[in-house]
Parts: sequence; structure tokens; C-alpha cells
Amino acid sequence: MKHAQTLKETLRRIDGRGYKAYKELQGTYAFDSFTLFIDHVQGDPFAQPSRLRVRVERPASGFESSFTRSPSRTVALCDYLTRRFSRTARHLTKGVRGTGKGGLILIDAPAQEILPRTSMKVTDTYVEARFFLGLPAFGRRIAGRDATEMLLTELPAIASDALFFKESQRAVLTAHVESCEDADALRGQLAALKRVAFVADGAQLPRASGIDPRPLNKGAVPFTSPESLRIDIDLPNHGKISGMGIPEGVTLIVGGGFHGKSTLLNALELGVYNHIPGDGRERVITRSDALKIRAADGRSITGTDISPFINNLPFGRPTRAFNTENASGSTSQAAGICEGIEVGARLLLLDEDTSATNFMIRDEKMQKLVTSENEPITPFIDRVKELHTAHGVSTILVMGGSGDYFATADHVIQMADYIPKDVTEKAHTIATEYANGRSVEIAGPLKSVTHRTPLPNSIPMEEKRGRVKISTYGLSEMVLGKTRITFDDVEQLVEPSQTRALAEAVHMAAPLMDGSRTLDDILNDVMETIAKNGLESLSDILRGDLAGFRKLELAAVINRARTLKT
Ligand code: ADP
Ligand code: MG
Repeated sequence: MKHAQTLKETLRRIDGRGYKAYKELQGTYAFDSFTLFIDHVQGDPFAQPSRLRVRVERPASGFESSFTRSPSRTVALCDYLTRRFSRTARHLTKGVRGTGKGGLILIDAPAQEILPRTSMKVTDTYVEARFFLGLPAFGRRIAGRDATEMLLTELPAIASDALFFKESQRAVLTAHVESCEDADALRGQLAALKRVAFVADGAQLPRASGIDPRPLNKGAVPFTSPESLRIDIDLPNHGKISGMGIPEGVTLIVGGGFHGKSTLLNALELGVYNHIPGDGRERVITRSDALKIRAADGRSITGTDISPFINNLPFGRPTRAFNTENASGSTSQAAGICEGIEVGARLLLLDEDTSATNFMIRDEKMQKLVTSENEPITPFIDRVKELHTAHGVSTILVMGGSGDYFATADHVIQMADYIPKDVTEKAHTIATEYANGRSVEIAGPLKSVTHRTPLPNSIPMEEKRGRVKISTYGLSEMVLGKTRITFDDVEQLVEPSQTRALAEAVHMAAPLMDGSRTLDDILNDVMETIAKNGLESLSDILRGDLAGFRKLELAAVINRARTLKT
């Protein structure tokens, strides 16, 4: 290990030289209170910034063992430290210096969710931040003095603020880890309570805007549970809380337009994740195998058994193993459901706003005009109950537009002025009183799931110099070698870091597709590897910009690969 002084001397020596001379910096340096690892130096000022780590010995860092007493706490501590490092780096650096990304010190920036992240690692022996640093240049010449300021002044200041415990932060940090631990405990209790989701009284569901996931700061009506669905839950840290427990089975969310139906559903969709204190959804918790399903016309479908919903297509096209390059709204929704159940989804979340009408419902008059021999679709309304009774798959459905669902729903919740009311009884009475001539259109009972077996080369990845080039763009696009996968309709992703991790996971899953193992089996394998060796094991280089994802999203991405063969 070199000393920090050596770093200073090297920078003085290479000042003004060509950018490539920065490569010399790679290595490990001992500072007074931490160790600096310069793992990878960028090739030029415009490339992705250099990868660095700062490691502080755990005893010196001062973070007591109680902050890492459980896996939930450790995840929350890392999340908290990442946020703190990010904020401090913004405040304590000068920002861009010279060319390209020079001058920037960046750590992966979290959104509202507390996720497992590779940006920070806390073990019994150390606390380590993994971040990016843009080595500064003027044109292509090394700006040695600026680099010295960044590495020997700014960085130690950031480390000292972000990676050492201060008594003044105890309350905030404690709230962060306890809230996360409570959320996990709550999720863990749902199954025993036979509930699929929980929304605490007082929760604030609306967001600042459609593109800003922070809480609406003015005029948010706090959540109040209807008495009939109210349950108490005991949390390890906070103690007893009350809220609405949505039971297993079929739950309908009805209500007039603009009364908060979709807002509730969106909160439930993201209730598979834990949220930071102050978000308003800290105690909006959904079982972790909940899957949002929406229409995604235009997506490809490969070998999916959509026969529970679609049969007798024109020209006898098979639906037991359905292929298309260009799905319709209804086939895409059918595929989404069948593919989800194939890999373990046990709660479906649907919103009329983003569903294909002909998939959701076929009313009496339409049945009279277009008889069922001429209609390939078994609408969701005729399967939703059976999905629960025969397969243990619950559904929460937002439906303001059709009362035909009343008869099949176990519970009906009406949103009125953002407050939920239990209107189940009323809805059931209406369903009986106005029973119409609509006939149930099921084409035989729901079969068990059909497992698909991906063939080799389903995700072709061309190597260049022994490596596959993996790129991601935003939340919903990745390119592996020459294979581009887009998945805009996958709505339960919240951070680009998840997409980066998913791309690495697809890269890991692809070679396991050998024509004999099922997709489910392969994905279990990948998820087990991550559970055992951590997210960082997804990549052969140590990178700090990956965040946790679920098996359901990994399946969704692979299912949208246009090259998939089964
Ligand atoms: P719906 O799906 O019933 O038509 P939305 O859920 O889209 O209604 O909500 C309509 C509007 O009301 C949105 O702008 C949303 O942010 C706002 N809103 C939703 N819930 C609340 C609430 N509890 N307090 C204040 N505003 C809310
Ligand atoms: Mg809506």
C-alpha cells in the first residue's frame, strides 16, 4: 500500500501531461483515517468517470453493531450512508472542472426506496463507499492541481462527513434503520394474516407529480382505513399501528374519476419496496410477489401459454405456446399474467387506466352481437375468481367503469375524496338485484402453469475482446452485445441502478439457457447466487452502481427479448 503523500507527488509529476498518464494512479493509498482504492482510471475525460473506493475501519467509523443487527438494518444503513455521501459530495465539491466530467465525485443516487445497493458496503470490519470520480483535465492535459484538491482535500472531507458516525445523526439514522426493519417485518406478517397488502392510517399516498416521486407537499389527504378492513399490526420498533389490510382474493377499487384510485394502486405497486422515512409510504406494504400488469401492445411474446385467456385465434393459431412480434393489448396482458404466475407472482395489480378493455370485460350486449365462437378472448372477469380459488393468485383491480365485476369481487373498496370506504355489501346487493344475462365465458378450467424452456442462444451476446458490452439507458432499456431489450411497460422499477443490475443478471442467466432447464429454474439459480454472494457478484468488476431487483422483473425483461426462443 502506498501513502497518500505518494499520490500527491505522482499528481505533481504528471501535471500537464497527456491524460493517459493518470493510469499510474491505480492502486491503494493509506490516508490518516481511511484507505483509498483507485480501482480503475478512465481512459479520457469524457469516458465514464474513474471507479474509486474509500474504506474506513468499522471501529473507527463509530457505527455501532446495533445498526447492522439484522439484514434489513444493514441494507438501510448502506442506503442511508449512500444518501449522505451523495449529498455531501454535492456540497463539498466544486463541480465540473475543465473538460468532460472532470471534477465530479458521484455516488449512485437513490430515489425514494431503500434498496440493497453496491454503492456502500458495511461489514463487521469496515465501511466502504464505492463511487465515481471524474479526473480533471484541460483539453486532454492532466489538471494535476485540481486532481490534488479533489483527492486530497475534497475526498477526505466527504469521507469524514459521510462515513463516520456523529452523535447528531443518531435520531435520523435510527429512524431509517428501524423504519426499514419495521417494513420488512410488516411484509413478513401479511401471509399469516391472509392479507396481500397493508396501508397504514396516516399514510400519504399522492406524489409531487407524475415525474416526481417525492410526496405531494400540500393538501395531501392522509389515508384512513375503513373500519371493516382495519387491522392492527405490531411492529418490532414502532409498536402497534393500524391500517387497511387488503384480504387475499379479489379486491375491486371503485370510485369516481379523480378520487384517488390509481394513486392507491400505484402506492401498492411500489409497496413491494421499503421507503425512506418522510416518503409517506413507509408503511404501505405489499407482498413481495405482487406484479403490476398493464397492456403493452407491440411487445414480443415467445412460447407463452396464453390459452387461459386466448383461444381459437383466426387460422387456428396456437395459443398454448403463443408467439408474436407485435402483441395486441389483450394478448400482451394475457401473456404478462401467465408469465408472471410462471415465475411465482401471487398478487396481480391492474388498473383500468392501462388495461385493454376487451381483455377486462365483455358485456351482455356485446356477447349477444359477437357470440363466443367468434371471440377468442376469455375476459379477465371470468378468470379472476378462479385464479384465486384454484391457484392462490389474488388480484387488486381498479375499475371505475364496469359494475360487472361486482359479482366476482370478494371486496369492493370505494375511493371517495381520497378516503376508502368498504362498499362490498352494497356492490353485492346491486350485483344480485341487477343480475343480467351476461354469461360466463370460460373455455375449460384453468390449468396449472406451463413452464417454458429457453433454448441456447436466446439472448445472443457478441463478445468483443472477450467481453460482452453491456449498456443500459434509463429505467427500461438495455443492450447486451447486439441484443436490445426494451421494457417500458414494466412499472415496478424505480432506479436505473436496478436496470444496470438486471442487465448483468440477464448476462448471467443467458448461458444457463441450455434447452433443458426451465426459465423459472434458471432465474432461481441467478437469484440464489445473488442472495448468497451479494449483488456485486453480478459483475466481474467491482461497481457501485447496482441496486436490488426481484425475480419478477428479471423474468419480465427476458420475456421481452425479441431473440428469445423456447
Ligand atoms: P383516479 O384514478 O381515481 O381517477 P387518481 O389516483 O389519478 O384518481 O388521483 C387524481 C388526483 O388526485 C391526482 O392528481 C392525485 O395526485 C391526487 N390525489 C390522490 N390521492 C390524494 C390524496 N390522498 N390527497 C390529495 N390528493 C390526492
Ligand atoms: Mg385512475
